[in-house]
Amino acid sequence: MADIQLPMRQMEARVEANRCLYCFDAPCIHACPTGIDVPAFIRKIAGGNEIGAAKTILEANILGASCARICPTKVLCEGACVLHDRDEKPIEIGRLQRHATDFVNDRGIHVLKPPEKKNGKSVAVVGSGPAGLGCAAELAQLGYQVTIFEKSKLPGGLNTYGIAYYKLKPQLSLNEAELVKDLGVDIRCGVEVGRDISGEELQRDFDAVFLGLGLGDGNRLGIDGENLPECLDALDFIEQIHTKPLHEIPVGHQVVVIGGGNTAIDAATQSVRLGAKRVTMVYRRGESQMSAYPFEFEKAKHDSVHFLFDSMPISVVEVAGHVVGIRLARTRMTADGKLEMIPGSEFTQECDMILKAVGQEKQAEIMRGIFPKIAVGLGGVITRDQMSGATNVSDIFVGGDCANGGREVVNAVGEGKKAAHGIHAFLAGERASLPIQPSRLGVDGSASGCGLHNPIRAHELEAHWKANQSTKNSGEHRG
Ligand SMILES: Cc1cc2nc3c(=O)[nH]c(=O)nc-3n(C[C@H](O)[C@H](O)[C@H](O)COP(=O)(O)OP(=O)(O)OC[C@H]3O[C@@H](n4cnc5c(N)ncnc54)[C@H](O)[C@@H]3O)c2cc1C
Ligand code: SF4
Repeated sequence: MADIQLPMRQMEARVEANRCLYCFDAPCIHACPTGIDVPAFIRKIAGGNEIGAAKTILEANILGASCARICPTKVLCEGACVLHDRDEKPIEIGRLQRHATDFVNDRGIHVLKPPEKKNGKSVAVVGSGPAGLGCAAELAQLGYQVTIFEKSKLPGGLNTYGIAYYKLKPQLSLNEAELVKDLGVDIRCGVEVGRDISGEELQRDFDAVFLGLGLGDGNRLGIDGENLPECLDALDFIEQIHTKPLHEIPVGHQVVVIGGGNTAIDAATQSVRLGAKRVTMVYRRGESQMSAYPFEFEKAKHDSVHFLFDSMPISVVEVAGHVVGIRLARTRMTADGKLEMIPGSEFTQECDMILKAVGQEKQAEIMRGIFPKIAVGLGGVITRDQMSGATNVSDIFVGGDCANGGREVVNAVGEGKKAAHGIHAFLAGERASLPIQPSRLGVDGSASGCGLHNPIRAHELEAHWKANQSTKNSGEHRG
């Protein structure tokens, strides 16, 4: 399955880099959740210094190579490019980032080095997804001894097991985990916290703990026939593409995907690429209410995916224990904004495979089992201060999908980094834990900006973070 986004040739990269205006206080930097100094790395590419460019990227974002392929750049860095104001094409930041990071990866050039001296403190990181790796890389560069505990056989989280194969190959995700190991981080795969090692042990043996557990299994539809073998969780379907030879993955001739988000789009477009003859996405609301990005929706249309809007599943139709169709009903909005099924509107859509992409379970109960004192917000995500990742338990910090409810890889890396600086400040005695007043929490469990009794103020932490960034980057700017 070929990459959807092609790499740039060297000359193309130079020409593109030379279009950049190298804005002062560039909006693309602020639009990137990991704060990559975009103009600085692009200027280096323009000057033929790909190694320096890669160093700028990877110091700010250890997953710079995968983010270059999978970030929704149109709504992040490229969306903020000032060339939009001149009605010109924005700079292709993602592809330039890929160019620089591929340059060093392909040649085995190590641009990051572990610090010469450790500071004698240790941190346990739970989960080796983008949040865990982002946090671990940052802590390692600040001199901490970091150990990651990962329940899966391989590191990388959804970057290794969940991202559409035509966007990101698992090997690249594993290479990125190697970069983190090269910084001196110990990654212990096959160790599930809560089963093989307790939360109490982590708190006893380490100075601080970072939780980057991600989300849980896919949500169920709650309809009859859901357990039939051809009715799969979209995440499990995508995971097979990462773990099995492509010809061994069963795909239906007629596939129905339930859901209207980016995961549903990935499941649909992957089905097309695996040979499904007709793929139909069924979404209970209208096109404008889909949570999928517009460019992802366009991609699915380009792949000839069909759409059934304002329709919801009622039951799976089976013959001899196999899926042969799905009963659907039309939906409408009531005057008070509720979604209801239109009586008598039921119909059957023929299909031999159903993929469910209706969100992932939150980890609240699992978390409470491991750390009974941890506070969980209304939406089932772990409560934290957004700037520092601090939870109500003083030595526990959190970031990524388990805290934000499920966003993008670059958000998880950025939150892991911020938590690393929260931990750094905490271990330097600069802050206490986050005092929780549940009534003041946002739906996502975030307590940021709620004016509580000042554990550490957001702007102080940001300054602390930026100061460390500039110390880390200072040598490189001369490079
Ligand atoms: C199908 C799909 C497609 C996506 N496509 C994109 C995309 O194109 N672009 C994009 O930017 N984002 C995409 N995302 C979102 C992105 O993958 C997530 O936002 C990101 O992976 C979150 O990182 P994380 O580290 O918080 O969680 P995860 O990546 O889920 O990592 C959590 C890790 O913690 C481990 N873990 C959990 N519990 C324990 C435990 N008790 N002990 C030890 N280890 C544990 C898990 O095994 C896992 O490795 C997609 C998500 C999905 C589901
Ligand atoms: S990490 Fe993503 S958002 Fe940040 S500059 Fe790179 S492509 Fe843009």
